[in-house]
Amino acid sequence: MAVKPRKRAPKPRQERRFLPDPTHTSRGIALLGFAGAALLGAGVYGQWIQKEPWPHAVWLVAAGAATVAASMLLGDRGLKPLRVGDAGVALEDGSELARLAWCDVERVEVTEGKLVLRGKPRSVELPISAYPRAVARLLAEGERRLPRVFTVDRAKLGLPEPVETNGELLPVDGLQVAGQHCAASGKVIAFERDARVCPLCAEVYAERHVPEKCVTCGERLGARAVEI
Ligand SMILES: [Zn+2]
Repeated sequence: MAVKPRKRAPKPRQERRFLPDPTHTSRGIALLGFAGAALLGAGVYGQWIQKEPWPHAVWLVAAGAATVAASMLLGDRGLKPLRVGDAGVALEDGSELARLAWCDVERVEVTEGKLVLRGKPRSVELPISAYPRAVARLLAEGERRLPRVFTVDRAKLGLPEPVETNGELLPVDGLQVAGQHCAASGKVIAFERDARVCPLCAEVYAERHVPEKCVTCGERLGARAVEI
């Protein structure tokens, strides 16, 4: 008979990765793309398909290609994959992750179609139409984890209901807490292995100073604080 483990292993910390919605392109940028494609098409026709090349066809090709490239660049501008999960939210910037933990979100607002999370060390702005599923998930998790801060009325935003199949499930990695201050004792955490994290709001504590209750979200901690 298998021996029952005395302590249940902590649940692995996970997060979901969402890509910006590919249909999110402003009408202006889409028109620019069409115009570029038309110029390019005309240029190719004039330069290589006509028996006698048009005198300025090569310039049409160049202008068309540049316009298409510009529309692609503008359409993609600033929209990065977004992660939402146990560690908070994170925007991917190449191989780096710019993280904002739940416990560091100070205010949540909706302005001009964007969800804005104000906090430290950074604020995060998300165009809602580009990340509908991610924003739905983010607000639902925020309400559960830090209800005093996440007071935005989700129902008014017309978001889809978050479901388990949304986003790609990944383990939380790239979390750096060395150098941060313990939220209970104020002491600097020298090594990642000395840190413990609140499973609900991701507040960080030094191993020796984990309080009974999380100072930020009130979750019961003690032995439930998790290693990174
Ligand atoms: Zn907490």
